[in-house]
Amino acid sequence: MKETMEFKTESKRLLELMINSIYTNKEIFLRELISNASDAIDRYHLLSLSDESLEKTNDYEIHLEVDKKRRQLTITDNGIGMTRQELLDNLGTIAKSGTLEFLKNVKGKEMKDIDLIGQFGVGFYSAFMVSKKVQVITKSPFSEQAYKWVSDGESDYTIEEVDKKDRGTEITLTFRKNEDGDQYDDFLETYKIRSLVKKYSDYVRYPITMEVETHQPKKDDEGKDIEGKTETVLKNETLNSMLPIWNKNKSEVTDQELQDFYKSQYFDYSDFLFHIWTDVEGALTYKSLVFIPGKAPYNLYSEKFEKGLQLYAKGVFVMDKCKELVPDYLRFIRGLVVSPDLSLNISREILQHNRQLTKISQNLEKKILNELEKTLKNDREKYIKFWKEFGVNLKYGVYDNFGEKKDLLKDLLLFETTNKDDLITLKEYVDAMPKDQEAIYYGSAASKDAIKVTPQMDLIKQKGYDVLVLTDDVDEFMIQMLQEYEKHTFKSINQGDLNIIDENEKKTVEELETQNKTLLEALKEILASEVKDVKLSTRLTDSPVCLVSGEGLSFEMEKVIRQLPGEKEVKAEKILEINPKHDLFKAIHKIHTEQSDNLADYAWILYNQALLIEGLPLKDPVDFANKMVRLMVKSAQLENANE
Ligand code: ADP
Repeated sequence: MKETMEFKTESKRLLELMINSIYTNKEIFLRELISNASDAIDRYHLLSLSDESLEKTNDYEIHLEVDKKRRQLTITDNGIGMTRQELLDNLGTIAKSGTLEFLKNVKGKEMKDIDLIGQFGVGFYSAFMVSKKVQVITKSPFSEQAYKWVSDGESDYTIEEVDKKDRGTEITLTFRKNEDGDQYDDFLETYKIRSLVKKYSDYVRYPITMEVETHQPKKDDEGKDIEGKTETVLKNETLNSMLPIWNKNKSEVTDQELQDFYKSQYFDYSDFLFHIWTDVEGALTYKSLVFIPGKAPYNLYSEKFEKGLQLYAKGVFVMDKCKELVPDYLRFIRGLVVSPDLSLNISREILQHNRQLTKISQNLEKKILNELEKTLKNDREKYIKFWKEFGVNLKYGVYDNFGEKKDLLKDLLLFETTNKDDLITLKEYVDAMPKDQEAIYYGSAASKDAIKVTPQMDLIKQKGYDVLVLTDDVDEFMIQMLQEYEKHTFKSINQGDLNIIDENEKKTVEELETQNKTLLEALKEILASEVKDVKLSTRLTDSPVCLVSGEGLSFEMEKVIRQLPGEKEVKAEKILEINPKHDLFKAIHKIHTEQSDNLADYAWILYNQALLIEGLPLKDPVDFANKMVRLMVKSAQLENANE
């Protein structure tokens, strides 16, 4: 007898959502159904261990069958099946509480646009995203009778008795016709099914099989190959590999196998640099296999780049980029996490507050940092390779979140320095500091060579101090966040007072400053629109002038910030420093005492030269050139007159 039953209200709602779904990943229906089949086999197996009445077996299988003419795909399992009551309870209502809550809150009109699967795992009903009709034939080992359940997902379903000998469930989907860019036809193709199984269900523990056509040599009556003739035969192919690499014994997996796995799984052409394989059992059980690529992906720094690890729950693929598992500064890592403790139908919202995930993520972060530390110590060459590809991420890590991670990361930083050929750590810098050196010096420029020749290096060179060379945009921001390393503060060679001359020298310069007060004031007045101050320098020995910034914003930071939208107004304070020991100073002094009109030209030329040395743009290059020319002509005339 065929009975027609109504779906429960909330089921109707969910079905309506499914049928109207514009979700782009409709293909996940197969994952959901295979996962249900696998669960059903799990349950049968478990029961069979304790229940004498159940046959003990290891012949489990999930079989897929396509009927192109009828546009049908059938998924058959030999799991626990369902009794009549179970059919009504399981497929006629929604068991999941989260789904119910959610459904109560969506208004009819919004339904179409909801990223449904992004919010939930939807299980069995996802079949209606792709099917116009779904039929379930099932038999429980605890019921003599088998049943057929059929629905088009509208408002009701039918249920009737059928003949079926073996336990298990057989779900037949009749696919919709292609429409609006949805290619339902694809789901009838062997290649598509094979690739979906590979993608989503490769590590399901039971064989997922399908009859596929293969060509083989045609045989004669005696069973010998007939040359040049082939025939098409059907072969039962197992589509999934079942034993995931992470379930193998670590010691049995070769490097080559791991590299192959990495490349095929994460579509990389180059070898990974490190891998970290963890196996945690206890309050929280999970395995993880994390790779640090050999090369940064080309889009790593673009906004579109999605960080994350693949997530598997109980051998079933849940999602591709679980970003909750990866801190921003490690965005380049790839890999996967498998945990039986996570639900397959974990929702996006739950993910964000999931304590297990947070814990896994923290453990992973620690492991990765440990591994980096170890490599830095034991294999500098490899670490430098890593650093060149991904170092800048760690720098952002120091700066990010108000320096939350700076103590974890500071010893993983490498720096170029003016005195050393190799990259060094902060610890190495500090350990090599001469006794009289207090601060850690750094300079910003486009390259190491550029810093080496800046006038600001004069005195530092004389003292033999090493200087960290900062070339990345983030560098100075990171340094500001660090503030100090082992009680040594960071000091820019181009900023503020260096405080490295002794008291006597300081006194001499102060005296000179008082003596030359009117000159300095005059220069300051000429350049008032551009500089905050004109001073006699305590850092220059050979060079005539340099430009330094005040204690706040540096020139480098100004450059970086000005590239940001809407930040055109920020300005680093400029201070022009003149070397009192240089002949040029004597020349200006002379011009000043002679009350020559040339003082203004001299001042502007000096200032522009300082800008050039600093790598900063000149406001008016033509004016600068004209002033230079004027001076050159004058000095030539002077020489002529003297001859
Ligand atoms: P979930 O699997 O998350 O519980 P579903 O909507 O996918 O939700 O399935 C509802 C229920 O239907 C399952 O919990 C299970 O009891 C039953 N079920 C689904 N598929 C099968 C199957 N192949 N064999 C036996 N029972 C099944």
